[in-house]
Amino acid sequence: MSYYGENFPKLGFGLMRMPTLPGGKDVDIEQVKKMVDIYMENGYYYFDTAFMYHGGASETAFREAVARRYPREKFHITDKMPLWDIKGPEDYERIFAQQLEKCGVEYFDLYFLHGIGTDRLKLLDETGGWDFLKKVKERGQVKHIGFSFHSPADTLEKILDAHPEVEVVQLQVNYYDWESESVQARKCWESARRHGIGVIIMEPIRGGSLASMAPDIEKLFLNKNPDVSVASWALRWCASLEGIVTVLSGMSNIAQMEDNIKTMKSFKPLTDDERAVIDDVIKALKAQPTIDCTACKYCVNDCPQHINTPGIFSSFNEYKIFKNLNNTRFGYSMATSKGGKAKDCIECGSCENHCPQNLPIIELLKEAAELYDK
Ligand code: SF4
Ligand code: SF4
Repeated sequence: MSYYGENFPKLGFGLMRMPTLPGGKDVDIEQVKKMVDIYMENGYYYFDTAFMYHGGASETAFREAVARRYPREKFHITDKMPLWDIKGPEDYERIFAQQLEKCGVEYFDLYFLHGIGTDRLKLLDETGGWDFLKKVKERGQVKHIGFSFHSPADTLEKILDAHPEVEVVQLQVNYYDWESESVQARKCWESARRHGIGVIIMEPIRGGSLASMAPDIEKLFLNKNPDVSVASWALRWCASLEGIVTVLSGMSNIAQMEDNIKTMKSFKPLTDDERAVIDDVIKALKAQPTIDCTACKYCVNDCPQHINTPGIFSSFNEYKIFKNLNNTRFGYSMATSKGGKAKDCIECGSCENHCPQNLPIIELLKEAAELYDK
């Protein structure tokens, strides 16, 4: 049976960006409980967590806010196996048992292998990851199985050909990444459709990028309809696709939740006029001037400060396109977690000698430092 057949309300609660207490680390569980209550009162019941969300605290937050407060038959919960923690076959059962306990449930409605990419296929074959997935389903500890995916569409096609037992796949889909060379959202969605399996959409608002943009671009939406949020366009675009099980939204506060619920409760597929507005927005976003870095990494090896320049430029470009600084801070902190920050550049010039794009790397890093390192 395809999981798609379950016919869910089209708004899923992604538990990866929950509100936090002052300091930004611990989950604000009382706030989450309020959000859960609003979500459930409105007829929604699909929750998505993972071992690593919120530094391991998402599953226990789910237990406190949902599993201990609502009868088991009133909600659906999806959890995911962290493949980067798998060193051998025995790790699957150990982690899975922890997850059931942390979530406070005896079974998961849906269980994923988390973040399958080209680089994890060998590990899965060598450690029996696919067999483990089938086993927990046979044991009744999981009702439906699938995986979340972050790689090119031809890899997805091969996996789905080889694993007809998969019932659903979670994909990064949004209007901005639909034709992206790297994300390949359209091609991945088409592959899932060809295989007749359901699609759960993650990052419909692209981590918040599609919720706020430069005022002149937002105006394209507001001119068409001043009464709805910019984010609502992104949600409706995703929910208008065929074969969608649900659209996850990583809601961080009650206002976002209420806006999402307002959008999805009165959901209507996009009209042709509205699609034309989104096409104009995509064109305007793609026309924003960005740094022409191809991520070839020729600049990285000889940098005495171990600066991950292409990683920094990737975050900087996100800022240049969407003008939302906070949304790009995480990418910047990841890009600089193992080496120097933009401000650490000592202007030796070695990188500029290697750059095939002839980029003024030193000047661009100074701009990035102004933005991120103050
Ligand atoms: S100029 Fe800066 S970024 Fe470039 S190699 Fe030297 S220290 Fe690294
Ligand atoms: S060498 Fe130039 S194009 Fe290549 S990654 Fe570095 S900055 Fe980008």
